[in-house]
This record gives sequence, structure tokens and C-alpha cells, in this order.
Amino acid sequence: MEKVILELKNITKRFSENPIPAVNDVSLTLQQGDILALLGPSGCGKTTLLRMIGGFEEASQDGTIEIDGQIVCSSDTWIAPEKRDIGIVFQDYALFPHLTVAQNVAFGLKNLNKEQVQKRVTEVLDLVSLKNLEERYPYELSGGQQQRVALARALAPQPKLMLLDEPLCNLDIQVRLRLRQEIRDILKAAGTSAIFVTHDQEEALAISDVVGVMRQGNLEQLGTPEEIYTCPASRFVAEFVTQANFLPATRKGELWETEIGSFPVERGQIQDSVADTGELMIRQEDLILKATPDASVNIRSRRFLGREYRYCLETLSGREIHARTLTHTVLPEGASVELAIADNAVQIFPD
Ligand code: ATP
Repeated sequence: MEKVILELKNITKRFSENPIPAVNDVSLTLQQGDILALLGPSGCGKTTLLRMIGGFEEASQDGTIEIDGQIVCSSDTWIAPEKRDIGIVFQDYALFPHLTVAQNVAFGLKNLNKEQVQKRVTEVLDLVSLKNLEERYPYELSGGQQQRVALARALAPQPKLMLLDEPLCNLDIQVRLRLRQEIRDILKAAGTSAIFVTHDQEEALAISDVVGVMRQGNLEQLGTPEEIYTCPASRFVAEFVTQANFLPATRKGELWETEIGSFPVERGQIQDSVADTGELMIRQEDLILKATPDASVNIRSRRFLGREYRYCLETLSGREIHARTLTHTVLPEGASVELAIADNAVQIFPD
């Protein structure tokens, strides 16, 4: 049976000057070895929740945080950050500038003799592919290398849980893409559970086993990347994670009628609170464009992104719809198109 490494029960944080909680009644569990991405727009409470797990912020009311079966925060328990057995990686690396790579990594290794420290430093630097840079100082490293040192330093004491707060956000896109895969591989190789804060949807999906989408302090949905993407629990999750289109829709027998056509929707794809009207959600990549003279949708603009074209379409009523197609379908700006939808791709949310 899988083991729970982290359990949050009803965690709330209010900062005194703000009536809206930064974190509002959040409960979740994380299994040993899993990577949780906390995803949400700026100010939704990701960092505050991470800091509470780390012990850098106290909860505002009853609620518990349990790490590996030990309560670290509750109404009558408080375990200090350094006793929580966690590793932390920040966005700005926070390396000691006057220490070499090896000394930085060795920093958190208490209770080990010199040889054991040397052995562990070599091991983790090997894990993050920096073995030959042991004697360098942080200023002699690239941003990506510095972040790998920070990761190695946090991993060296073999923490039960790693907390990573937007660790890639100061890196350029190429390094960022490479490092997110590397971080996942490194965490998996070490078997370390982790929470990774990001506001980048693709990054969250790519790095995690479980995604927690946050909005205004609330945990809006918790699920695997596939669940979050294919079955968003709310319109907010659909918009934030996939930038899906929404169209007002009315039930007409078996079909849902919209201004771009009528479509069948499976019962399971209709949210419970919806009666006969709603918002039909359609992802950009599930729209199929077919050039048709005098059709009701126009291609307002087209952008080439290498692998795909992105189209901005306009309906008769002036509504914008966004579509992405692989580069083998090329339609000119100004053309009128009919829109079809890939099978089972639509969902209905409350209006
Ligand atoms: P970002 O992606 O911009 O870092 P975030 O999702 O991590 O955002 P938090 O930093 O957790 O969001 O902030 C959540 C809310 O709590 C915001 O409204 C923020 O202004 C507020 N907040 C955070 N820290 C404090 C503080 N020390 N004092 C007062 N308000 C705070």
C-alpha cells in the first residue's frame, strides 16, 4: 500500500490587513515519492501554502499539517522548520556566494564525518550532473547550473519532502525546458516526494504526478495532469490550464446549440448544476477548421509557431475563438470557415 508523506487538513491563512484568506481551508494528501505541482495565477496563495508546510508561516485557525505521520502544525503543536526534515529550493537559488559548489552542497550535512560528507557531496553532484564543477564558486556558474547546485544542496541531507518555489522562473526558456525534465528525473531517482510551485500550466503538467490548481486561496481541483486537462472541475481550471474557448449553449434534444453549430455532449461531460443552458467548453486543439465560402466564422489572424498554427477566429456576433492546428492545415487570413469539433471533446459548464 502507498504511504502518505504529507497530509493537510483544513489549512487556512489570513494576513491581518487582508479580509480574504491567502489560503482558505485547504486539505490534501500526497503519496510518498509523488511530485505535486501547485498551479495558479499570481496571488492565489501557492507560496503561502508552501511556506506553511515549510514552517515559515503559521496557520490562522485550527487545521493540521502532518509530514510522514508526524504532526508538525496543529492547534497545540508546532515543529520548527529545521526539524521538519524538508529541503527547499527558491527561485533565486540562494547559494552562499563565498562557498564553492561542494561547500554549498555540504552545508546542510550535519552529523556526518568528513569522509561521509565528501561521499554524499559527490553522490548528489553526480545526480545533478555537476561532478566536475565541485571547486567553482556560484558566480562562475550559469543560472541553470546554480539552480542544480541549489537542488543538490537541498537533496543532500535526504529530506522527506522537497519544497520548490518557482525554481525555474529566472531561467531562459531552453534551460527551463531541459531543467524541468531533469528535476523530475532527479527527484524520481532519489525517490523524494516534492511540491513544486509554478504559475506555468505546461510546466505543472510536465513535472508532476498530481496537480493542485489554486484560485484565490482555494484548492480548486486536485488530480493527475490528465484528469486536470481532460476533466477540469470548473470553468476557471479549464481556462487557466488549457485556455479553452467558451460559448453560450442551449440544450436542444440530444444536441447543444451554439452560434458555431450544434454538438452532441455526453451526459458525463455536463456539470451537475447545468439545466438547459450553459457554457460549452472547447479546447483550441479540438476545433477542426474547414474552409467554406460564406460560413459564419472568419479567420481574423493566423500565427505560425513552428509545430502549429494559431488562429484567432471571429464569429458573426463578434466573439473571438482561438484554434490551433498542426502545420499541414494552412488556411488564409480572411477566409470563412466552418468549425467542427473532435469527438467527445466538449463539456458544458454552468453559465
Ligand atoms: P505569486 O505567484 O505571485 O508568487 P502566489 O500564488 O504564490 O503568488 P502568495 O504569495 O501566496 O501567492 O500570496 C497570496 C496572497 O497573500 C496575496 O494576496 C498576497 O498579497 C498575500 N500575502 C502574501 N504574503 C503576505 C504577507 N507577508 N503579508 C500580507 N499579505 C501577504
